[in-house]
Amino acid sequence: MALLEMNHIQKSFEGLSVLKDISLSVDKGEVFSIIGPSGSGKTTLLRCATMLETIDGGEILYHGQRATWTENGKVVYAPKNERKQISSMFGLVFQNYNLFPHMTVLKNITDAPVRVQKREKEEAKATAMELLRKVGMEDKAGAYPCQLSGGQQQRVAIARALALHPSILFFDEPTSALDPELTAEVLKVIKSLADLHIAMVIVTHEMSFAKDISDRILFMAGGVIVEQGTPDEVFSSNNERTRSFLGRYG
Ligand code: ADP
Repeated sequence: MALLEMNHIQKSFEGLSVLKDISLSVDKGEVFSIIGPSGSGKTTLLRCATMLETIDGGEILYHGQRATWTENGKVVYAPKNERKQISSMFGLVFQNYNLFPHMTVLKNITDAPVRVQKREKEEAKATAMELLRKVGMEDKAGAYPCQLSGGQQQRVAIARALALHPSILFFDEPTSALDPELTAEVLKVIKSLADLHIAMVIVTHEMSFAKDISDRILFMAGGVIVEQGTPDEVFSSNNERTRSFLGRYG
């Protein structure tokens, strides 16, 4: 059963149709990348997938559990408590890290597990240290976000997302605010997560990274899916739009 299933998704902003009949599914442990030109709807799709944005048409299911229904032609969402339970399956990593500036690295990671998931403090700390080791940041546990580079902050943000034991980790252009050398260190960390068998949905403009890490790639343009397939299928596609887009990334 798919972890995430989106069927015939429609989304408009003030009459501007941004997602036009988008369908996708993400399986357990799968790395799924979304690529496409700027303004094609990638971030909106990710925000709809994580219920940060509501859809106007179509349906979303998480591990077979319905999050939306259509009633009298309108999409309705599951009640708040169910949505909350569904959201606990997600980890989110954004472009701008969004760490809490007044908390140390360690506190940034343990805060939600202790406060929201009611985990034991010591257990949460031990998990956080293990995750910091995983992202190469164990020596910065006591530092504050402002003392870290963008790449280091993003690695902490990844550890923070992992601390909630998500089934799916969503990344929205995780390296777009970073210099090339900091980008490389973050991409390396994301790549190392692939062997943890957490499903990942990644909006990225790092084409060689997407090709290298993904099980499947979705290429969208103008709010529609142009292609969806394995990296080999997408990168060797004869579709003119795909070729022209990928050609720009040489
Ligand atoms: P991408 O991530 O591919 O660059 P986006 O999903 O950010 O694309 O944006 C797709 C389109 O939707 C753009 O035309 C953008 O201006 C518009 N858009 C995105 N979010 C909003 C919003 N909250 N209100 C109005 N328009 C929006």
